[in-house]
Parts: sequence; structure tokens; C-alpha cells
Amino acid sequence: MQGKPRIGVLALQGDFAEHIHMLGLIGINATEIRKVEQLNEVDGLIIPGGESTTIVKLLHMFDFVDELRAHVESGMALWGTCAGMIVIARELADPYPTPLNLIDIGVARNFFGRQVDSFEAELKITGIEGDPMRAVFIRAPIVQDTGDGVETLAIVPAKDDGTPEQAVAVKKGRVLASSFHPELTEDTRLHSLFVELADEARTDSARISRSTEESPSTV
Ligand code: GLN
Repeated sequence: MQGKPRIGVLALQGDFAEHIHMLGLIGINATEIRKVEQLNEVDGLIIPGGESTTIVKLLHMFDFVDELRAHVESGMALWGTCAGMIVIARELADPYPTPLNLIDIGVARNFFGRQVDSFEAELKITGIEGDPMRAVFIRAPIVQDTGDGVETLAIVPAKDDGTPEQAVAVKKGRVLASSFHPELTEDTRLHSLFVELADEARTDSARISRSTEESPSTV
């Protein structure tokens, strides 16, 4: 690929450093995003795992919400992992937090139980070639329902305890959401897939460049 997409990782709370490390392994020098203006400088944004209630609160506090929506609508790639998936959902089974509705999915938080119920599974993921991925679930959410055009990429099979199969990775356009933590493994394939989405955003001539459109020099 000629040139590289610019990737940001939301660094208000959660395990952003691990995502930055993973991106480094595939040659991407990602930026920690702490201010809303920095969204003008990226083609893709990762919202990491952590505490969704805290992340939503901080996104409001630092005035991210409207700008984030505008960037996603204009074609920026977005990936929510674990708490990040909860943050970008349309609606939650829980009364809080109020998610941002950046992908048309309903999500249930902490579906598999508490920290002690964390588990790993081998997952076959649509779009990822080769062996299944080792997926780490920590107080993970699941996708309960998907709207039009949302593709399910990965499913945790039914468990021996009777828990039925659950969707844990979905995608619509350039918005990706996953319940598990690929940044806690050495497997960079899902990060590479996201970099491809961001590269699509970078080279999309139809994408409105908000940085150009709104830069002070053009007004
Ligand atoms: N259960 C957490 C939440 O609701 C998410 C856990 C995680 O990101 N590992 O925000």
C-alpha cells in the first residue's frame, strides 16, 4: 500500500497502550487520542477495553460525542473492543451507560459473568485467513441483535452449561465491534483488518475531509 493510514487509539481510559503496541508490531505508529481536535488527523479510531461507563462519561466531558459521530458519518473507520463495543452500540440491555449509537447493534454487558468468569476461546473470524484466533474474554459483552447491513464476523459456540451461541464480532461498513481483547494476544490479524478499513477511509475520495473542510485557513 502506498502510504499508511493514520490510526488513533482513544486514550481517555482503558488498555489503549496494548493496542498501540499491537499496531507497532504491524508497522503503524498510532497516536494516543486525548483531544477531540486530534480526530482530524486520523483515518481510523480504536476505542479500547476498560470501563464503558467511565469512557462514555469522559467522551461527554471532553466534547467528543458530536465530532466522533460526524467523523464516522463522513467515513472514518472505527473499532470498539469490549468496553469500546458497548460505547458505540445503539442500545444496551442495561440501564446505563447511554451508548453513542455508532453501529446498529444491541449489546448486553458482562454477559458471561464477572472477572473470575473470564475465558478464552478459539474463534473463526470472517475476513481473517488461517488458524482460528485465540480470543480473550474479560467481563465481555455480547451482541444481542443486529440491524440492517450489520455482518456478524464471529460467534462463540454454545457452552456446556447451556449458554447458547453468541455473536461477538460484527461489522458494518468501516465500523467494527468485538467483545474480546485481541490486543492481549500476539495475534495481529484483527488489527491488520482494521488497518485495511482505515486505509480504505484514507484513500476514499468521497470521504469528506473534516480537517480540510473546517481548517481555519479555508474560512
Ligand atoms: N464490563 C466492562 C464494561 O462494561 C467491559 C470490560 C472490558 O472492557 N474488558 O465496561
